[in-house]
Amino acid sequence: MAYDLVILGSGPGGYSAAVRAGQYGLKTAIVEKSPKLGGTCLHVGCIPTKALLHTAEVWDYFQHPEEQGVHCADPQLDLPLAVARKDKIVAKHAKGVEFLMKKNKVDWIQGYGTLRGGGQIEVGGKTLEAKNIILATGSEARMLPGLEPDPEFILTNVEILSLKSVPKTLAIIGAGAVGVEFASMFHRFGSQVTVLEMLPRAVPVEDEEVSRELERAFKKQGIRVETGARVENVRRTEQGVEFGAMLSNGKSESFAVEKLLVAVGRKPNVEKIGLENTRVQTDRGFILVDEWQQTAEPGVYAIGDVVAGTPQLAHVAAMEGLIAVAHMAGKPARPIHKNRIPGATYTEPGIGSVGLTEAQARAQGFDVKVGKFSFLANSKASILGRHEGFVKVVAGAKYGEILGVHIIGPQAYELIGEAVTAMEAEATVDTMMAAIHAHPTLYEALGEAFNAVYGLAINA
Ligand code: NAD
Repeated sequence: MAYDLVILGSGPGGYSAAVRAGQYGLKTAIVEKSPKLGGTCLHVGCIPTKALLHTAEVWDYFQHPEEQGVHCADPQLDLPLAVARKDKIVAKHAKGVEFLMKKNKVDWIQGYGTLRGGGQIEVGGKTLEAKNIILATGSEARMLPGLEPDPEFILTNVEILSLKSVPKTLAIIGAGAVGVEFASMFHRFGSQVTVLEMLPRAVPVEDEEVSRELERAFKKQGIRVETGARVENVRRTEQGVEFGAMLSNGKSESFAVEKLLVAVGRKPNVEKIGLENTRVQTDRGFILVDEWQQTAEPGVYAIGDVVAGTPQLAHVAAMEGLIAVAHMAGKPARPIHKNRIPGATYTEPGIGSVGLTEAQARAQGFDVKVGKFSFLANSKASILGRHEGFVKVVAGAKYGEILGVHIIGPQAYELIGEAVTAMEAEATVDTMMAAIHAHPTLYEALGEAFNAVYGLAINA
């Protein structure tokens, strides 16, 4: 069978590229090894995690219902029911992706695709011919050396999503997005949670003040966070998992927990896709691409978690897919602007960020002005009963250009949208000061933070 485009992998990168290719009239096929479309994000990543985090948020309100003016006797958390709800959401959206493939006349080919060189892809003994190929094969959780995940004790993002009951104790290695989201979830479900991070701060890719605020909030809630910690000698026991850790205070401590989540990053799925039959170049397993997502093999593009140099985020994968397809179809496109990629972490308080951190901006030689506004003084935050956090705007002192925006607080992952749009439109701080922010809203805190750059916030 001959195609204009064959895509390996149906995650947000692969399926978005497929839809756009269909819209452009390219004869397209998508190859997926799993029996369902949607990839990691839909089945064992973004969507199921956020579905369970929603349950955690609802449950949290039920812990102190009188704070909302409600009496509620004996509420019960039913984890299997919450997991079933999550599964239903996932199934619905998997059907949605299937529908999108049909609607855009994309052939769905089930099986494991391998590059054979010269535009040929082998799937289950059959050979597809493709003018263009997009590699969108994603990533999988990295393990600590010598450890294997299992459904019972040593978990990754996959196994932890199907637990039948809430563990009494949960240790999490790694305080990146996966680690802190599950910490926030299981703490609210009732587990005693300890997070161990090897670097000096939690969520190390975020602005330093955001890390500090998250650590402070987690500590206040009762989540133990040990940064600068070295975990060693992890072993399974009859009842759970034991390990030692060298803590930042120089003392070592032994831990015995019911479950351990390993959240130390993700490795690209490139091993068995036939890269050796092509000129595709890699760096530590990640595929090297140019600004149009082209690899060194003509006609072969790569997008998403397999790509070197861009963060492993669903929305990055999707945009990279659209760029690759536009490029091969001769349509207008703009390369990814690395400083305009939003981060969204669904903890309580949440995190949303875009652009340079204050430290990065200073290191790059900018004369920096910072505007900060606390959610304490935001009326909608009071209404929600969610007061943690702040909005921080990092701007250039000379022109008022927005270099970065960092939010920690209620629904920060939603609020960051305004900042992304402002930066994409190259709005200045002055433009954003003139933008009317509806009242009472959480995003008024952004308006105030832009004003705060010039010391002009009203409610501070
Ligand atoms: P990550 O790379 O973001 O974080 C891993 C953390 O583990 C790092 O802070 C690292 O310093 C730490 N670490 C590594 N080895 C360690 C060790 N031996 N002991 C202690 N700490 C150790 O990876 P992740 O959290 O697993 O997430 C994987 C990818 O998926 C990331 O790119 C992440 O951004 C993405 N993701 C995003 C979201 C979101 O946007 N909401 C949610 C989940 C995952």
